[in-house]
Amino acid sequence: MEKNNKAVVVFSGGQDSTTCLFWAMKKFDHVELVTFDYNQRHKEEIEVAKEIANDMDLKHHILDMSLLNQLAPNALTRDDIEVKDGENGELPSTFVPGRNLLFLSFATIVANQIGAKNVITGVCETDFSGYPDCRDVFVKSLNVTLNLSMDDQFVIHTPLMWLDKAETWELADELDAFTYVREKTLTCYNGIRGDGCGECPACELRQNGLETYLEKRKEVKQ
Ligand code: ZN
Repeated sequence: MEKNNKAVVVFSGGQDSTTCLFWAMKKFDHVELVTFDYNQRHKEEIEVAKEIANDMDLKHHILDMSLLNQLAPNALTRDDIEVKDGENGELPSTFVPGRNLLFLSFATIVANQIGAKNVITGVCETDFSGYPDCRDVFVKSLNVTLNLSMDDQFVIHTPLMWLDKAETWELADELDAFTYVREKTLTCYNGIRGDGCGECPACELRQNGLETYLEKRKEVKQ
């Protein structure tokens, strides 16, 4: 058990942050959730996050981050910007500059306010689209900065940092949350829960990981 057993999870209602929520509930006695409302294209995302928080009976902070959308319109917030992968070394159209810098900073301020020392985020360096603010070095650097800024000792935990999508499914399964995560979460850029639309980049990534994991699980059971 950690010395300080209170934690804040950066929570979007997607597969990754919901898996982190289950991870946090195993590790810490007291867990609260922070969701950022930045005028996501799909309001559904906030609704899903609220429902999951409610299912788990956890305190849920929803913070207004519409400023982010005002500063940097992108494919996650605007219907007229297409969702596409980055080509020729460019970042994908879903990249929001400074998003994790702001989200982790605000989540840590919430942690400070409730007396928690732990912040959990589902960012992952392994099979991501190359977002610079999902890199381990960035999170570690920000952790130092936040500690200096508040003269405190927070720990930012990244349980998914080195997992690929199949391994994230495996972790959900180990946490007895496989079915819950599969059915209740929203990852799809088209706002469809569970297995999603099956066609957008987020669904493709999630589906490929799921198939790989299910194959592996079948082999283990045989
Ligand atoms: Zn989709």
